[in-house]
Amino acid sequence: MSADDMRRLGHRVVDMVVDRFERRNTEAVITTGDASDLTTQLGGPLPDAPIDPDTTLDLMAQVALQNMQHGDHPRYFARVPGPASFAAILGEWMGTGFNTICASWGGGSGPAVVETTVCTWVAEMLGLPAQTEGVLLSGGSLANLTGFCVARSEIGSGVAYLTDQTHASLPRNLRQMGLPEDHIHILPSDDALRLSADTLQSAIAEDIAASRRPMMVIATAGSTNTGATDPLDAIADICARHDIWLHVDGAYGAPAAITDQGRATLRGLERADSVVLDPHKWFFQPYDLGMCLVTRPGALDRCFSMNPEYLRDVQATDGAVNYGNRSLELSRRSRALKLWMSLRSYGAQAFRGAVADGIALAEFTESHLRSQPETWEVITPAQLGIVCFAHRESDAADHAARAARLAASGFATLSTTTLKDRSALRLCTINPLTTKADIIETLDRLAAPL
Ligand SMILES: *Cc1c(COP(=O)(O)O)cnc(C)c1O
Repeated sequence: MSADDMRRLGHRVVDMVVDRFERRNTEAVITTGDASDLTTQLGGPLPDAPIDPDTTLDLMAQVALQNMQHGDHPRYFARVPGPASFAAILGEWMGTGFNTICASWGGGSGPAVVETTVCTWVAEMLGLPAQTEGVLLSGGSLANLTGFCVARSEIGSGVAYLTDQTHASLPRNLRQMGLPEDHIHILPSDDALRLSADTLQSAIAEDIAASRRPMMVIATAGSTNTGATDPLDAIADICARHDIWLHVDGAYGAPAAITDQGRATLRGLERADSVVLDPHKWFFQPYDLGMCLVTRPGALDRCFSMNPEYLRDVQATDGAVNYGNRSLELSRRSRALKLWMSLRSYGAQAFRGAVADGIALAEFTESHLRSQPETWEVITPAQLGIVCFAHRESDAADHAARAARLAASGFATLSTTTLKDRSALRLCTINPLTTKADIIETLDRLAAPL
């Protein structure tokens, strides 16, 4: 492409993205296409001859990128929203435009220092110890896997403890790491859908009695279902007593620790050996971005280092970080640029305010539900931006029908779930652009007769 073509097409892309930002309140919050229709429009024979890039950009915007969930829409309440900020998007574009790599020190020393910087900044915001080290990954799934590998390399293989509320990708990780089933100890959660310290303590005693060695407790800070946080401080006491690795899956909820209220809920987080968070959830980053933080210096590198002859020219030896030695990824783009750009552009104070708004909005939602007891029942209270509730006259099929009707209308979308055999509706309110009026109108439409 000529420089003129690159500029014209590049400016067009910026315009298309900003135009969408301006009208996203009015577009359908989620659109699910028909597989054969989409294949007809987007597939077809391999293009042997060039197709005009403008045509492809139009097709991309109008078809490929229309048929998806818009997690940054202010009435997207399903699963976990993705309210990406524009400064972060700029960082992502720069990284791609410069074909950034962050694998070895020699190959990407600038991006490596940006990655170290954002991991240090986030650890500080969460209140983790100063020696905390980190690595960026595609999301919570891979960041948790990374933490598990480090735990096993530091402690040796043994039993991992989790609950029926632990995110489904975590037991999958453990199985794919080759842990046998009797080393994946899934405990029943208590009435508040949390891990009880007593249940954990007896499970550990039972395993020790059966000559199984406890390796790691996986606690959740903000469960995907309800936003519940396991009692981290009490769990950390048990881990300290038995020399067990404490891994905290805060993929959803860890960012709450940057607010005063969240810090109190997550008390004990600072005692974890490893912590995972998903900046593409509650740190306002575009997909994808997960972070694994490890509070034991050198543990990430001890687990993942390799030093083949063909990398020796570019590997750091003087204490600088080779990020290809901190996870299973070698060639990797810089996922740090977007977070660095947005933390610098908005400042930590704006992040604290935006996360606090999400927590407060779920509390508003809970009190609004409680003000209409003839229509709604609160199943789990507002916890870190999530509230679960039931429609008085609805069973699971009715809940699903109400949620589907709302999504099909394009106005808003939320999730259904099951909590201790009870069907529930679930709102996740972490988009700082969402208003109270959005919540009220969404609940009114949800309650309309089927
Ligand atoms: C989202 C989530 C995960 C998985 O993260 P991905 O980014 O989707 O891979 C893991 N744990 C919890 C608690 C989550 O909410």
